[in-house]
Amino acid sequence: MLLTAEAFLAKEEKLLAGIFIYLCTSLISSCFLFPGVFLYKQFGALAKGNRGMYALVQTDMNVFTRYLPMASSFNFVIVSAKFIFAPIERCLNCKRNFDENMKILKKLLKELNTVKEVIELRLSAELHGGTMQTEEVKNWLDDVQRIKTEIEIIEHKAKEKKFLSRAFLGRTVEEKVVELKAFLRKGKAFLGMVKSFKYMIVGGGVAAGYAAREFDRQGLKPEQLAIISKESVAPYERPTLSKGYLNPNPKAAARLPEFHVCVGSGGDRLLPDWYKEKGIQLILGTEIVKVNLALKTLVSAAGEIFKFQTLIIATGSTVIRLTDFKVEGADAKNIFYLRELEDADKLVESIKMKKYGKAVIIGGGYIGLEVAAAMRINDFDVTMVYPDPWCMPRLFTPAMAAFYESYYENKGIKIIKGTVSVGFNANANGEVKGVKLKDGRVLEADIVVVGVGARPLTALFKGQLEEDKGGIKTDGFFKTSMPGVYAVGDVATFPIKLYNETRRVEHVDHARKSAEHAVKAIKANETGEELEEYDYLPYFYSRIFELSWQFYGDNVGESLYFRDNNPLSPKPKFGSYWIKDGKVVGAFLEGGTPEENKAIAKVSRLNPPVGNLDQLKKEGLSFASKF
Ligand SMILES: Cc1cc2nc3c(=O)[nH]c(=O)nc-3n(C[C@H](O)[C@H](O)[C@H](O)COP(=O)(O)OP(=O)(O)OC[C@H]3O[C@@H](n4cnc5c(N)ncnc54)[C@H](O)[C@@H]3O)c2cc1C
Repeated sequence: MLLTAEAFLAKEEKLLAGIFIYLCTSLISSCFLFPGVFLYKQFGALAKGNRGMYALVQTDMNVFTRYLPMASSFNFVIVSAKFIFAPIERCLNCKRNFDENMKILKKLLKELNTVKEVIELRLSAELHGGTMQTEEVKNWLDDVQRIKTEIEIIEHKAKEKKFLSRAFLGRTVEEKVVELKAFLRKGKAFLGMVKSFKYMIVGGGVAAGYAAREFDRQGLKPEQLAIISKESVAPYERPTLSKGYLNPNPKAAARLPEFHVCVGSGGDRLLPDWYKEKGIQLILGTEIVKVNLALKTLVSAAGEIFKFQTLIIATGSTVIRLTDFKVEGADAKNIFYLRELEDADKLVESIKMKKYGKAVIIGGGYIGLEVAAAMRINDFDVTMVYPDPWCMPRLFTPAMAAFYESYYENKGIKIIKGTVSVGFNANANGEVKGVKLKDGRVLEADIVVVGVGARPLTALFKGQLEEDKGGIKTDGFFKTSMPGVYAVGDVATFPIKLYNETRRVEHVDHARKSAEHAVKAIKANETGEELEEYDYLPYFYSRIFELSWQFYGDNVGESLYFRDNNPLSPKPKFGSYWIKDGKVVGAFLEGGTPEENKAIAKVSRLNPPVGNLDQLKKEGLSFASKF
C-alpha cells in the first residue's frame, strides 16, 4: 500500500518523540537517581539507631545501588542504539517505500502513456474540427511529457544507488504518484466513453457476417462482439451486386434483406434483428481511420474510440479507380465502379435514367463480364474494352474465352480487345459522353462501368503487421504477426497447404470459410482445444446470362479442354482440366449439375495421376465422376 508523505512524516515524528523520551529517561537517571541514592545512603547513616529500619533500608539500597547503574547503562545503550539505528531504519524504510512507490509510479505511467497515445490517435483522426478541446488537451500532453522527463530523472538518480538520496527521492516519488493520478483522471475525462468489446471485427462484409454466425455457434455472451462497418447495412452476400441486383425486372431483382449472409451458402439470412437478439453490436456507417494494434485501439472518423481484446480484420478490397492513374476526364458523372451496395444503387439509378442508352464496360475480368451481361439484359447497347488478347486471362484458356466471347457477341455485345481507355469526354453537365481509346477510337457512352481490379484494404495496418504478397500475412489459423489480431477474407495472405505456398484469395467462398476458421481458432485458443490448420481448396464461380461456371483447384500446368463447346447449343456444357507433374490439379466446368460440380471439386483435391491425355480428353467429365 502506498505510504503518503504525511504518514511518513508522522512516522518520523514518532521516532523523534521516542528518542526524546529515552533521552529524558536517561537524564532523569543521571540527574535525580544518582544524587538520590547518595542522599539516601547519607540519610540511612543518620538513622543507624533504628536497626530494623536501617537493615531494611540497607537491603533495599543494596539492590537499588547494584541494579540502578545497570538499568541506567542499559537504558543508555538502548537510547544510543536507537539514536544510531533510527536514521538507518528511516533510510531503510525510505528505500523500501521508494521501491514500492516506484512500482506504482511505473504502473500509472504505463496507463498514462496508453491514454496519451489514444488521445494523440484520436486528435489525428478527428477530421472535421473534432470534439476535443485542443488547447486544453495540448497543455495536458505537454504536462505529461514534463512528468515523464521528471520520472526519467528520478530513475536515473535512483540508479546512482546513493543510499541517503533515496530518502529524498522517496518523497518526490510520492508526490509524482499523486500528480500522475490527477493527470490520468483528466486524460480519461478527455477521452469520454471508450467502447470496449472482447471481440471486434473491423469491416462488415461477407467474412464479418460468417464470423458472427460462427461466434454464435461457438458460444457468445451478449455484448462480447462488435462489428464495425463503413457500410450502413448488415453483412450481405456481395456477389449479388453484379448479378441479381442489376436485374431489370423489379419482381426478380434481388434487394435487401433478401441477400443478407449466410443465404449464399444455403444458410439462414442474418437480418439486423438476429444481431440484436444475440447481443452483437452492429456499428454501421462507421469508418475506422486509425488503428493502434499494440494499444488494441480503433478510432473512427467521428473520433469514437473502441478497445478490443481480440480483433478480426475483414476490411476486404477496394476497387482500382481510373482517377488513381489520373486518366483524363475519369471523374465525369455516370462513370461507375462496383464494390458496395451504394455503388450498385447509383448504377441502378443511372440505368433507369439512361434507358436504352450506350454502355461501355472497361475491363474483361469477371466483374466486367457480369456487368456487361447485366447491362445487355437492361437493353443497353454494350461495348466491352480490355487490353488482353482474351477475356478473364487469369483463369480462362483461349479456348474457354473463345466460347464466352462468341456467346457475348451472339447476345449483341461488342468486344474491343488489345486496347485501353485513355480519357473521357463529358457534356456540359459533366456527364460522360465518350470513351477515348488508346488506338484513337472514341466510343459513345451514357454509362461507363469500370472493372479493372481491386486491391486489399490493408493501409490502416501498415507498419503494424507483417505483410506478404500485398496482403496481411497470417498462419493457417489466420493469426497475424500481432497476438490477438486475425485477418480473413480478401486481405489475408495465408498458407495454402495443398500447394505448399502462401496466397491471397479474393473470392467469396474463401471469405466465408476463412472467417469461420479464424473464429474456431480464437475459441480453440481460449479453451486449449486442438484445431487443424486451414486446408483450402480454391473455388470460384460466376453466373452470366443463362450460363454458370465453377472452378476448383489450381490453373497451372497443361490445360485440357473437354466436351461440347458449341455457343449455339441450348445448354452448353464444357470444361477444362489442368495437369501438372502428371496429376490433375484443377478443373473448370460450365453448366454443371450440383453432382458434376462436386465431382470436379473432388478430383481437384485428390490430384489423381493421368496416364494418357488423349484418354482423359475422351473421358471428359466422366473421368471426374469416377472418384
Ligand atoms: C460486385 C462483386 C461481385 C463478386 N462476385 C463474386 C463471385 O461471383 N464469386 C466469388 O467467388 N467472388 C465474388 N466477389 C468477391 C467476393 O465478394 C469477395 O471476395 C468477398 O466479398 C470478400 O469478403 P470480405 O469480407 O473479405 O470483404 P468485403 O465483403 O468486401 O467486406 C469488407 C467490408 O469492410 C468494410 N470496410 C473496409 N474498410 C473499412 C474501415 N476502415 N472501417 C470500417 N469498415 C470498413 C467495407 O465497407 C465492407 O463492408 C465479388 C465481389 C464484388 C465486388
